[in-house]
Amino acid sequence: LVILGIETSCDDTAAAVVRSSGEILSQVVASQADLLARYGGVAPKMAEQAHAQVIDQVVQEALDKAQLTEKELTAVAVTIGPGLSLCLRVGVQKARKIAGRLNLPIVGVHHMEAHALVARLVEKKLQFPFLALLISGGHNLLVLARDLGHYIQLGTTVDDAIGEAYDKTAKWLGLDMRRSGGPAIEELAHEGDAEAVKFRVPMKQHKDCNFSYAGLKNQVRLEIEAQNINAEIPISSASSEDRGARANIAASFQRVAVLHLEEKCQRAIEWALKIEPSVKYLVASGGVASNKFVRSRLNQVVERNALQLLCPPPSLCTDNGVMIAWTGVEHFRVGRYDPPPPANEPEDAQLDLRPRWPLGEEYAEGRSDAR
Ligand code: ATP
Ligand code: FE
Repeated sequence: LVILGIETSCDDTAAAVVRSSGEILSQVVASQADLLARYGGVAPKMAEQAHAQVIDQVVQEALDKAQLTEKELTAVAVTIGPGLSLCLRVGVQKARKIAGRLNLPIVGVHHMEAHALVARLVEKKLQFPFLALLISGGHNLLVLARDLGHYIQLGTTVDDAIGEAYDKTAKWLGLDMRRSGGPAIEELAHEGDAEAVKFRVPMKQHKDCNFSYAGLKNQVRLEIEAQNINAEIPISSASSEDRGARANIAASFQRVAVLHLEEKCQRAIEWALKIEPSVKYLVASGGVASNKFVRSRLNQVVERNALQLLCPPPSLCTDNGVMIAWTGVEHFRVGRYDPPPPANEPEDAQLDLRPRWPLGEEYAEGRSDAR
């Protein structure tokens, strides 16, 4: 099997070609980070245009780099949700155009399932069931993957995801936003004292596996205001005292943001082992899982529980086409795919897009445990 994967659910346009053996034949990502930095956030219409501008080029490059002809492809996999529907549409239309022309089946992929399953490409030993912590800009999920396509959601965020808190903290601290905020905070935190500011750990009193980052984000904003830190002055021009103050906030924020992950992962491990005693791995994936501090703290949690941590390499943690192609492989192998679309599908054809699409069912017993 050789599968082309296409991803346009958020702000990266990505494509990749992957073999069912797990061999990555090519991987291309065009990021909208520059656009985001200039306008301070994703505007759906702008993101759609940015995807539309580069999609042909990104997919062609992925096919060229894979050094195969289109005829050698088995199927096309594409993210159909969750995400911005305007953006999803760009990828799905492209996928259907190629699949229609080459008479290839289509696999519609769940973006968050792909973040989790790519760990099985990285580590062939990873069998179901396993526990996954999926942490990115828009999601904060704890999921028990019982089998392919069978997930139980143990926890989610009640407001913001951790990546959103990293991004806003970076913005308010005047960090360079030409790349995403997470790596900038991670780097600055090395210079700071994580005990300098006492932020409260969110949701201490809740005995469930849910997350909340809006309150922490707000605590950070108030602290930045109280210390008169001016985001208009980029950190590169800040005095050394000012820089030190910013580094202390970055380090203190990161420590508490990750403590919140640690506490909920500990509880999720307990829940997961009750449901599936054979769980051996915690997979951490999504953009924030590329953070070294996050990885080292999660490692301590899993070791305490005699489990193992599995994090894909950073390029497979942030949004990418490989995870979509790989999830295509997994589903195709068990016969889950759609027949080829018509060769000349009209532009305005109804498409199966799922902007809001939960990953698996909620863990109902968890709610009663939590009381
Ligand atoms: P979704 O939520 O739909 O999965 P996303 O657009 O957030 O999509 P990802 O690429 O998975 O996509 O994650 C991006 C997020 O990860 C951003 O919030 C970014 O700041 C964060 N991130 C990336 N690298 C790091 C890092 N080293 N430390 C902390 N956060 C990071
Ligand atoms: Fe993502």
